[in-house]
This record gives sequence, structure tokens and C-alpha cells, in this order.
Amino acid sequence: MSHDSPGAPQAFHLLAKPTGAVCNLDCKYCFFLSKERLYPNSTFRMSDEVLERYVQQLLESHGDTEVDIAWQGGEPTLMGLEFFERSVEYVEKYRRPGQRVRYSLQTNGTRLDDAWGAFLEKHGFLVGLSVDGPRELHDAYRVNKGGAGTFEQVMQGLAVLQRHGVAFNILCTVHAANAEHPLEVYRFFRDELGARHLQFIPIVEREAGNRVTERSVGAEQYGRFLIAIFEEWVRRDVGEVFVQMFDAALGAHVGQYSLCIFSPTCGDALALEHNGDLYSCDHYVEPDHLLGNIRDTSMARMVASEKQRKFGRDKQDTLPRYCRECPVRFACNGGCPRERFISTPGGEPGLNYLCAGYKLFFTHADRPMRIMAGLLQRDRAPSEIRQLYAREDAEHRQRAFARAGRNDGCPCGSGRKFKRCHGAHGAASAR
Ligand code: SF4
Ligand code: SF4
Repeated sequence: MSHDSPGAPQAFHLLAKPTGAVCNLDCKYCFFLSKERLYPNSTFRMSDEVLERYVQQLLESHGDTEVDIAWQGGEPTLMGLEFFERSVEYVEKYRRPGQRVRYSLQTNGTRLDDAWGAFLEKHGFLVGLSVDGPRELHDAYRVNKGGAGTFEQVMQGLAVLQRHGVAFNILCTVHAANAEHPLEVYRFFRDELGARHLQFIPIVEREAGNRVTERSVGAEQYGRFLIAIFEEWVRRDVGEVFVQMFDAALGAHVGQYSLCIFSPTCGDALALEHNGDLYSCDHYVEPDHLLGNIRDTSMARMVASEKQRKFGRDKQDTLPRYCRECPVRFACNGGCPRERFISTPGGEPGLNYLCAGYKLFFTHADRPMRIMAGLLQRDRAPSEIRQLYAREDAEHRQRAFARAGRNDGCPCGSGRKFKRCHGAHGAASAR
């Protein structure tokens, strides 16, 4: 698009919200529900006119490259399947021969049936399905309007996707109810759901000042959650299970940023409301960050506007000194500005609420990430790190057995004394 609009990025990402914030569920931590206040008396349904303009402008503003059409909510499936069928027809109408379109849809999954499954498969949609873990952990906050848990319905939605061979990601929010159960959550996704792409998104609900609600994840708690999963992933799942946060960290080690929150600058991930209003970001759907409406101004012009470019630069320009001097800044870059509402130890405002967790995780993962980045740079598979870990773990175990006294806990982790476990017939045989 840069040939039409100087200053604009080569490509940008746009989340379209055809039902605005409206959803059929009532998840307790959902910050979108309160956004209904932004559009009083609205029907919260994207009109056909806005849909067509959106598709046309999005395709026109990209070159002959891949273009992402990403639907999110609220709950976008409330628009009905016909809306999405029309969106595909508009894509065919406006797509240039060289353009390849990738579709994605984020959904709570509760309204999916076989007609949806067939449609999503036919057009190669990637579906982001919101699941917070096994039933008890999922149902803690992901409830319907009557307050009942939604696990069963979501699993039915997942079964539809699997039956039709639709590619899916699991989007798991991390909050007070599941944050202390990282491995239970991770293994459930991997082993029970057969998921291969996972996102762990922290819930940070800000209250007055710099306080957060009791549902929010603690900063260090989030870091520990990621580390526990990382330790299992790096030993057995690298190359088979893809965790967005780990991919992002590895990318940073080779100078590539796939996630806006960890990029030095942002501003290339905008949000389109149901009525055509375009906002700087889905996290900033509020009057100060309204860029205009696609019925009056071209999307390309708004993306390239100085207001939007400044929004993106501000991420870097407002970094506190504490971040600028941080050893893991290259991977973290201060996180999302939306969450920068605490002060640094020196009292400077603008530090990310999740700082302690980010620092913990990025520091912990530094060595293995460097090793994997080195493998990548030598055209080798990052999964080779699993062999390294297997060797190191075996050596570590041997040393622990050699050091164990008769009355110590057995290094195998059984919880029994060494003399009653692997040391029962003499330490030598235990090795
Ligand atoms: S404000 Fe946050 S979520 Fe939005 S684009 Fe910037 S980093 Fe990404
Ligand atoms: S870990 Fe903390 S100090 Fe370091 S860049 Fe991230 S937010 Fe800033």
C-alpha cells in the first residue's frame, strides 16, 4: 500500500468486529462488554455496505501479497453464516489475481454447527477458539448470560472443527483461576484436545489507579505459568506444539517480531467497528483513538496518517528508562502500552504491570532461546534442543543420585527416602 499512501506500512493487520462488542456469552473478565456504551442504540451489526467497503479497501490497500481478513468480536458468528458467505463473495469480486487471502475467525465456539464447519474448511479459515483449560478451570469465568459454565458447548464447537478438518488455535486467557495450573492446562490442550497451536493471553483488568481486579493474573504468576509450560515444551514438544509466546521470544532472538506487544513499535494492528469506524488498535477502541470511518475516508489514508504513525512510535518513545536499560528489552520492548500503568522501582511512571513476569520468563528462557536461534541460523531445526536437554537432564540426575544421602528424598521425585527407593540396594545400583 505504500505506493498509494506514503508513510504507511507495507502491510497491516486489521481485526474486524462485525457485532462490535456484542457476545452471546458473559465471560466475567470480558472488557469488550463495557464497550457497548460507546455506541448507544446501535444494532451492532455490520451492514452489507460497510462489509463491501471494508473488503474492497483492505484488498486495494495491499499489494499483490497475502492479505489477512480477521474476524473477531464480541462474538462474530452472531452475524450468521450468510454474512461470512457474502464476505467471501466480496473478496472474489475485489481480489487482484496475485492476491492470496487468508481468513481467520476468533470465536467462543458455542454456535458452530456442521454448516459452519463445512464453510470454514472450504475457505481455509484458521479458527481461534477460546478455551481456558479443563472444565473446572474453563467454567470459572467463561459463563453464559445465565451464569452457567460453557465448557460443554465449546467442546461441541471444537468437535465440529475437528470433524471438518478446520485448522484451529487455542486462545487461553490466563487469570486467577487457572494461573496456578500451567501443566494441567497445557497437557489438556496438547493431549486431550490435540491442539498444536496455543496462545496464553494474560488477563489484566485494571481498576482505579494501578490496582487490578482479583480475577487478574499476578505479574510474577504469569511469568511462572509460562516457565512451567516452557520447561515441558522445550524437553518434548519443540517443533510439534507451537506456543505463540515462545515463538515470539525465539523470533526476537533472530531480530523478528511477530507479536505487536513485543515489537519495538506498533500501530500496524488496527480495529474496525461494526459501523465502519476505524481505531488505532483493538485495545484502544475509544474516542481518542478513533481514526475515522471507512465510509468517509479511505482505510489506507487512515493507516498512513500521522496520528496512527505516532500511536505506533509512542510505544517506543514512552518507554521508561528502567525498560531502556533492561537486559531483556530486545525481547520485551516494554510490552503493550495498555498495560503500562505501574511505576518503576525508581518512581518513573509507565512500567508494564506484567514487567516482573516478563522479566522472569525472558531471563529464564534466554539460554535455550539463544541455542535455538543458533540452530535456526545454521539451518538446523530448533527441536534439536530436545536432545541437549535430555543429555543435561541425565547428567543432572546422575549427579543427584551420587550426592544423595540415605535419608534424603530420592532424586527420582517419588517422595520417598532415598534408602527406601532407588538407594534401597545401594546407591551404585540406583545409577
Ligand atoms: S497498543 Fe498494544 S495491542 Fe495495540 S498494537 Fe500496540 S502493542 Fe499491540
Ligand atoms: S521486562 Fe520489564 S523492564 Fe524489561 S523491558 Fe519488559 S517491561 Fe521493561
